[in-house]
Amino acid sequence: MPDARLTGRVFLNAEGQGWFSDREFDDLMMKRAKSVAASALDLAMPPLCPVTQDEVSAIHALSATAWASAHFIEEPYCPRCGVPFATDYGEGVECPSCIAEPPDFECARAALVYDDASHRMIVGFKHSDRTELASMFARWMIRAGSAMITSKSIITPIPLHKRRLFARRYNQSALLVREIARQTNAPLSVGEFVRKRATPPQKDLSREGRKRNVAGAFGFKNDTATQQFRGAHVVLVDDVLTTGATLSAAARALKRAGASRVDALVLARVVKGGIGAI
Ligand SMILES: [Zn+2]
Repeated sequence: MPDARLTGRVFLNAEGQGWFSDREFDDLMMKRAKSVAASALDLAMPPLCPVTQDEVSAIHALSATAWASAHFIEEPYCPRCGVPFATDYGEGVECPSCIAEPPDFECARAALVYDDASHRMIVGFKHSDRTELASMFARWMIRAGSAMITSKSIITPIPLHKRRLFARRYNQSALLVREIARQTNAPLSVGEFVRKRATPPQKDLSREGRKRNVAGAFGFKNDTATQQFRGAHVVLVDDVLTTGATLSAAARALKRAGASRVDALVLARVVKGGIGAI
């Protein structure tokens, strides 16, 4: 080991003695100071449940009331779009809307039903600074999409147009992608699949209006970006699936670029008429 007095500093950590350059040592001290400050802040302001705003013991945690109100989607569901079924119709039986108008993605899976409870979680995640929720949401999504994520899948978010990204500071779907990739070791692509034109929000549009609104909205940053999707299995990530129009338009763009299969994984999905309606 080099002479610490001359070239750097010795620091004792839990694993034993480590040697750091002055710069590394200063960085380490800064990180420690920040983490001590963050712990002090946690003590001063206990973490709140993102749904009920009750105090909870740990960050990422839901209160008992919120757990009871969260509707996780379990089988049976449509093998194509993942909408939960009231009864098991047998293997391979798809829901009426997938039969009438098959989506452009192969399969979609959602962790939660989109209802009051999940709406509050997602709003907190989208519009306030509850980015620490991404890790918990990603765990739920990985569970819902366990059959679709492989070590070769490319996980990519539904992109925001750069103007909206600027206004919101971050793309919540990209945060989910980073967490899913971190927890599964699957490859990710963020910023290569892009939204070429700004589209008005989908929420006030009819089903047909939504389709028209996002038609041709997606593309790629450049030719190299397009290349990486050729022959790939892509898992598109978004926060909410409403009619599937955005995910379908994105899947079409990816398949046009040569993706071999495109699946969709979302945090919550709208279930028309509520759970058990089909
Ligand atoms: Zn379906």
